[in-house]
Amino acid sequence: MALRQVRLQNEDILRKKCREVKNFDDRLAQLLDDMAETMHSYNGVGLAAPQVGILKRVIVVDIGEGLVELVNPVILDSKGSVTDNEGCISVPGLAGKVTRPKWVKVSGLTRDGEQMIIEAEDLMARCLCHEIDHLDGILYTDKVEGDLFEVEEDED
Ligand code: ZN
Repeated sequence: MALRQVRLQNEDILRKKCREVKNFDDRLAQLLDDMAETMHSYNGVGLAAPQVGILKRVIVVDIGEGLVELVNPVILDSKGSVTDNEGCISVPGLAGKVTRPKWVKVSGLTRDGEQMIIEAEDLMARCLCHEIDHLDGILYTDKVEGDLFEVEEDED
């Protein structure tokens, strides 16, 4: 495993649309391992591949209930809405209020290419939506309500 360099808000790569993963090989496994290590090193709760410079539809999320890896994730359904503070490893030191679904149902593939379905609510739903947005070049700052504010640098 290895830490990867995190790309920041002003870098064009964070605005690109990511490609679907077709090969479930050692390179994908290495990417997932490195993403989890990088996320944890920042005390983050989620990370998307473009944040480490890879334009593939791959995310990792860990809100303290175990690591979740998802390849080619798709939001199938959502319900409700919650407005809460959100941050991003690519936007260090800042946070802002964003409205997200309270509940989501997400499909995706494991690192071995097996189908999986996740139903999540509250923080986990927020993280999944935030990371899946990254795969389409969308940052939470695009959706923020009101002004960004400064926080200690250990947010997601
Ligand atoms: Zn982010």
